[in-house]
Formats: sequence, structure tokens, C-alpha cells
Amino acid sequence: MSEDQGSDTCLFCKIIDGQVPSSKVFEDEAVYAFNDIEPKAKVHVLVVPKHHYRNVDEVAKADPELLAHMVDVSQKIADEAYLGQFRLVFNTGEQAGQTVFHAHAHVLTGEDLSASHT
Ligand code: 5GP
Repeated sequence: MSEDQGSDTCLFCKIIDGQVPSSKVFEDEAVYAFNDIEPKAKVHVLVVPKHHYRNVDEVAKADPELLAHMVDVSQKIADEAYLGQFRLVFNTGEQAGQTVFHAHAHVLTGEDLSASHT
């Protein structure tokens, strides 16, 4: 997937629109959350803003309240999945491992992750 993909070709925009199927965990007017197709923990949810931003830094600069809302939704997912405890990852840039250039939070929870902390 290339870094310069626009919202018309963006995989996560298509998932939000329902053009590509996904396993929905949560949705409201601002965000869509769904299970990652290749889970890296027992519970691995992607929390995605409905508006197309390329990465978390764009979200933070354009709409800090939206970023706070993404964190709040992540907390609620973990409240239901595992003791309210979770790891939140925002890969930002190709060399950091970002492969989809639509901002998203990886919420990793559902099990004890303390042995694999960074
Ligand atoms: P990134 O590497 O950009 O931080 O995260 C992209 C994530 O999207 C990866 O964890 C990957 O497994 C997930 N992913 C890629 N394609 C799909 C898909 O079609 N459906 C779902 N549910 N997840 C996907």
C-alpha cells in the first residue's frame, strides 16, 4: 500500500463505508472500530476516525478532541475486554510499520501483555 493513497482508494475509508467487510466493535458519528484481520493480541481492535487523516499527528493538529475521543473509545473497549488495561499503538510512517495511511489506533488487550512490553 502506498503512502500517497487518497481517501477514494483508502482501505479504511472503504471499511467505514461498508464497501469492504469488517467485524465491527463500536461505531458513533466520529469513529469506527473493528477487529484487526491479523490480531497481535487476544483482542486487537483498530479505532479509526471516520474523517480521512493520514496519521495520528494530523488528527492531533486538526482535531485534538477527536484524538481524545479515540483514546476514550479505546478505554471503553478495554473496560469490556480486560480490566480496563490496554496497549495503544499508533504506527506513524512507513519505517515505523504504518501500512495503511488512514490514522488508526491499535488497541491491544484481552490478556496479560506485561511480558512483551517495549
Ligand atoms: P498499520 O500497519 O498501518 O499500523 O496497521 C494496519 C493494520 O490493518 C494491520 O494490523 C493489519 O493487520 C490491518 N488490516 C489490513 N488490512 C485489513 C483488512 O482488510 N481488514 C482488517 N480488519 N484489518 C486489516
